[in-house]
Amino acid sequence: MYLIKTPRVIQKLFPTFHWRAEHATAQPTLYLTFDDGPIPQLTPWVLEQLAQYDAKATFFCVGNNVRRYSSVLQAVVDAGHTVGNHTMHHLDGWKTDNVPYFHDVRHCAKQLKTTLFRPPYGRLKPSQAQFLQRHYEIVMWDVLSGDFDPELTPDDCFDNVVNNARPGSIVVLHDSLKAEEKVRNVLPRLLAHYHKLGYVFDRLTPELLTQPAALSDVQLKTA
Ligand SMILES: [Zn+2]
Repeated sequence: MYLIKTPRVIQKLFPTFHWRAEHATAQPTLYLTFDDGPIPQLTPWVLEQLAQYDAKATFFCVGNNVRRYSSVLQAVVDAGHTVGNHTMHHLDGWKTDNVPYFHDVRHCAKQLKTTLFRPPYGRLKPSQAQFLQRHYEIVMWDVLSGDFDPELTPDDCFDNVVNNARPGSIVVLHDSLKAEEKVRNVLPRLLAHYHKLGYVFDRLTPELLTQPAALSDVQLKTA
């Protein structure tokens, strides 16, 4: 079970996690994030799509993929996107003891210089969160496309984003084989749709995430 839009009550329960980027920007901004890559089958195509709109994004990488496909990772970085740690082996924090979990995060950190972290499945025990927050900005999301769900069509995924995203939203997509078919359909449509609405697409950085929240009135009106 998962929720397309992260309810405010959950966001409030974990106020130190980043659910949305609530700082003032000149134009309404979306923060697209791609989890589980990089992979040669899809990530280069994602980069091409983003480049067509001068869009920047954030890639939460699995260390094992970074190790295998270092040139794909290099292309992501060279294109000006940011990368985040998504553990070495995509571990579920709820099912993993702290010591092996932290070891896996550190293993990924050896492949990837970043202070952004997203827990696989969005799952962390409180003790894991407490420790990781000393070293990382923990980046969650407020909108899931659902591209990983075999029950959903590409249209469902497109609608999930369009019906729920607003300025500052952090949107989850995947550069994984499981999501490939949907991402190839939905990403170009999302870029075109929000571009037409006057949005820009930016990357998440630790500096941006720790700025004080202050969405302008102009942005709220366009929401
Ligand atoms: Zn993941």
